[in-house]
Amino acid sequence: MLDILYPRRCPVCDDVLPAGSECTLCIKCRNKVEKVIEPFCFKCGKPVGDSKREFCQDCKKKEYFYTQGRAAFVYDRYMKKSIAAFKYGGRREYGSYYAGEIVKRYGKWIENIGAQYLIPVPIHRERYRKRGYNQAKVIADDIGRRMNIPVLDGYIEREKNTEALKNLNEAQRISCLKDAFFVSESSKLLYRDLRCVILVDDIYTTGSTISKCAEVLKKAGVKKIYFLCACIGKDDQGGE
Ligand SMILES: [Zn+2]
Ligand SMILES: [Zn+2]
Repeated sequence: MLDILYPRRCPVCDDVLPAGSECTLCIKCRNKVEKVIEPFCFKCGKPVGDSKREFCQDCKKKEYFYTQGRAAFVYDRYMKKSIAAFKYGGRREYGSYYAGEIVKRYGKWIENIGAQYLIPVPIHRERYRKRGYNQAKVIADDIGRRMNIPVLDGYIEREKNTEALKNLNEAQRISCLKDAFFVSESSKLLYRDLRCVILVDDIYTTGSTISKCAEVLKKAGVKKIYFLCACIGKDDQGGE
């Protein structure tokens, strides 16, 4: 009955799936989506395409405040469409597909980290009001359920309603994110004693958002910060 009212849909083409299915790719889309496979960057988990390279171009050049991170999908045109529907088209249920894939690929990695909490990257309250949910929290909740790790939400706050970062260059991103996140005085009491957490977000591109959140947590006293994302860009393969 629920399947008729709320049928499961393919997270890429949005076609209705056979009754009783999980939220998963339909037969047509199964080979379209590019999953992250090794070799990937030891630090951020971005595919590097060459097994002799330990780090991607970004991680070689930049300092990040997180320790390490992993993502399940390459942010290609299919996942772009999927994430857009997930964020702006009300297809909140796609989150369970992303989380399922993350856990399937990195369940062991997550277990080994032994994080005390998953922390979704916050969105600004105005955006939350419009969307009705924080997409990062949807993914974090689902991973948390599968891995039995509690989700800590609302302890980092997003001060500025930063415009979509995708159209900005690196310098603009950094200045846009400056002071974007903060931890309230009362939350600091909690963070002070945390050993290890995993930040969760939908997309990782340059890493500036995740690193900014990690910086805020680190300053509040969290010892180690990892991240998990549904999608990640490819290494730009810039000249060696
Ligand atoms: Zn499909
Ligand atoms: Zn990297």
